[in-house]
Amino acid sequence: MAETTRFAPSPSGYLHLGHAYSALFTARAAAANGGRFLLRIDDIDVERARAEFEAAIFDDLAWLGLSWEQPLRRQSDCAADYALALQRLRERGVTYPCFCTRKEIAAEIARAGAAPHGPNESVYPGTCRGLSAAARDARIAAGEAYALRLDMERALAEAERENGGPLTWHDRGRGRQRCDPRPQGDVVMTRKDVAASYHLAVVVDDAAQDITLVTRGADLFEASHVHRLLQHLLALPVPDYHHHRLLTDENGKRLAKRHDALSIRALREAGHTLEEVIAMTEQPQSS
Ligand code: GLU
Repeated sequence: MAETTRFAPSPSGYLHLGHAYSALFTARAAAANGGRFLLRIDDIDVERARAEFEAAIFDDLAWLGLSWEQPLRRQSDCAADYALALQRLRERGVTYPCFCTRKEIAAEIARAGAAPHGPNESVYPGTCRGLSAAARDARIAAGEAYALRLDMERALAEAERENGGPLTWHDRGRGRQRCDPRPQGDVVMTRKDVAASYHLAVVVDDAAQDITLVTRGADLFEASHVHRLLQHLLALPVPDYHHHRLLTDENGKRLAKRHDALSIRALREAGHTLEEVIAMTEQPQSS
């Protein structure tokens, strides 16, 4: 089947070897059956996004020999799409306003005795879920800033009831998955300073771009449970997924923006050829 895939970097730093691997993986998945390769600029977090990094993304991808269909999608242009999706979630009664600050949430987790490790480190303890409608209205009327959270238990129960059983999704590497986003708690859908959270934006974008195969690193595997639930709640199509391996540094740590020496830019400037850089993506331990 001809797939539509996308590479969706955030312009908050230079692309590194891990991105190169992901972009090539994604482009190859599209090319395998004469599909489409799209680009998305994930700049929903406008505070961190910078025009120079976006320009560098285009430049580095072209250097890698990749071309993508125009027009590209830029999240910062799509606030109206996210507002519509939020409206729909609100109408379904599966969200609630949360007035907690990051500091308050951290203190609450410490008090609750939850060990802050692993991917669930920042699971929200649910402080604002039980606020009365009157208390919520009063705080909103008083101008208090709030985030909108998904009431995870309620949303999943409702989705499973509508679906007549558990939701599922499919990963090309790991097979059929039963959708269980509950360990991630009441994830944020929007914050006062951002039009949509990562989770909401990605789900809306993938549907808007008609993506049939979502390719990304294994570190986002758990996020796909949340995305599958949102797809149900928003009546959006469900793409296939392929979470690929992560490139690591010599200590086995996942490559991140802090690995400046492994940015494609730095490797280019150091005189590495395209063939050498591609070979490095195939040898995860090389540095
Ligand atoms: N923009 C996200 C990132 O830079 C990836 C988007 C996705 O594939 O879900 O990590």
